[in-house]
Amino acid sequence: MLVIFGFKNSSRNLGLAQATCPRCGNRAAQRVDRRKRAFSLFFIPIIPLGSSYEATCTACGATTGVSRGQAEQILAGAY
Ligand SMILES: [Zn+2]
Repeated sequence: MLVIFGFKNSSRNLGLAQATCPRCGNRAAQRVDRRKRAFSLFFIPIIPLGSSYEATCTACGATTGVSRGQAEQILAGAY
């Protein structure tokens, strides 16, 4: 029997919000993405392996890993 398994990564854009970039220091729009990783069997995600959040600065292009709480704060405009 042939078993096809692997890992599936998906990324979802959660939105844009103004925040201060930790790299360039500008207050600029930050794009917040959620990345999900899952173990998949026959190309179907079976076991979620957690998600991570990252913010990308539209001024300098730096991508910073953030916690879920930080991502929510950025999107709420409170960061
Ligand atoms: Zn920046």
